[in-house]
Amino acid sequence: MPDEIRLNDLVEMRKKHPCGSANWKVTRIGADIKMRCEGCGRVVMLDRVEFLRRRKRVITPGPDAPEVTLGLVSRDKEAAQAEINQNVE
Ligand SMILES: [Zn+2]
Repeated sequence: MPDEIRLNDLVEMRKKHPCGSANWKVTRIGADIKMRCEGCGRVVMLDRVEFLRRRKRVITPGPDAPEVTLGLVSRDKEAAQAEINQNVE
């Protein structure tokens, strides 16, 4: 759960951007996370690990779960969950 990244998340990073803002909006999720500075509009890409390391907190979570914004992951996750459920039953 703490590692969750959603599209359109408004996040605060540990380190402030030179423009003075520490708030960023997640604009793309893939192998890399693309985010836009809320202060100056600059777009930066970080890999997932680096993003999570630098993220301080999520101010406002994006409206859609990552499963929804990431079609593919959703199916994998659902399949995995279905397997788990089957094993439990
Ligand atoms: Zn900035």
